[in-house]
Order: sequence, then structure tokens, then C-alpha cells
Amino acid sequence: MKIICIGRNYAEHAKELQNEIPDEPVIFIKPDTAVLRNNSPFYIPDFSKDVHHEVELFVKITKVGKSIPLQFASTYYNQIGLGIDFTARDLQTNLKAKGLPWEKAKGFDYSAVIGKLYAKENFDIHNIDFTLVKNGETIQSGNSSQMLFGVDSIISYVSQFFTLKIGDLIFTGTPPGVGPVKKGDCLEGFIGESSAFQCEVK
Ligand code: MG
Repeated sequence: MKIICIGRNYAEHAKELQNEIPDEPVIFIKPDTAVLRNNSPFYIPDFSKDVHHEVELFVKITKVGKSIPLQFASTYYNQIGLGIDFTARDLQTNLKAKGLPWEKAKGFDYSAVIGKLYAKENFDIHNIDFTLVKNGETIQSGNSSQMLFGVDSIISYVSQFFTLKIGDLIFTGTPPGVGPVKKGDCLEGFIGESSAFQCEVK
């Protein structure tokens, strides 16, 4: 499986990192070795001094698809979830400055927290509240209505370039409030009132 991630999909987050509002989705991919499941702890890697949390809604692909028309995109996933796109911000800033790809900063081992799965029927995909709580304090909150590119248009767009396969995940971008994690932090993500994942930073 692969994890396709959308960058800068919430205007307020794009602004906080002084990025332009994109006119088409910004895409990058994390490999399957990035997966961190089952509320496992996250170990800060030696190569970064500034790993940031980015809490994000994701959808799980259930059918193989290529160049999926927008009107059929919603039939290609049936579960949603919440996760973290851990980002080595110091590496990313250096790579961006040189015009180089971000992969080292985004796709490193265990950089994708994958929370529990929820049936999409129980949600209005265009109106899902989610939050990230760190050490008991809410530090990121968003609603899927704030996405610049909605889930269906992301699926349609992404599948022009990458065949979607069963089990692939699409991370849909982070709302504002990203920031560094440190050893001992306890992160918990919520979809509405439901605890979607917990992650201890080590
Ligand atoms: Mg992200």
C-alpha cells in the first residue's frame, strides 16, 4: 500500500508556513514503511531536531482505480480515519529552499500515524470535526469543510497520476496549529468526540 498525502489543503495552514494557496493539489507519497499503527509510540528520529505534528483526516481506498471521474470518486472509499503526518520541518525547510523533493522530511519510517477506521456512512464527509490534543490541551482543530480540495476531487485528481489500489490511504492535509513534538508528549486525535488514536512521543 501507499499513502498519498495532500499538502497545503487548508488555507490557514498554508499561511502559517508562508506558503501560497495552491491552485491544484500538492501531492507527495509516504511508503508503507511510514505506517505507525495500534497506538504505538513515535520515536523522534536522530536526523531531525524539529519534528512537527500535522493531524489529518484520511480515507481508505477500496477499489482499484485509474483516472477516476469526479462523479464516481465517492465509490472508491468506504472508511475514514484520523492520523498524523509527522514532518521533519528542519529537513523540509532545507529541501524546499534548494528546490529539492521533500521525501526525507515526510516519508521517513513511522512518520504516518494511522488511527482507527470509521464507516463513512456515519459521517457527512463535507462536515467532519477533528482535533489534536497534546498533553491535555487542544492544539489543532479543523473541519473537512475547510479543505481547499475535497475528498472526491482529490481522488479524481490523484488517480490521473497514480493508480489507486485497495488499502491505499489518502491523507487530506492539516489545519493550522502545527508545531514541534518533544519526548514525553502525549498526542491524542479525535473525530468529533471519538478518540481516534493515541501516540506517545519517545
Ligand atoms: Mg500534512
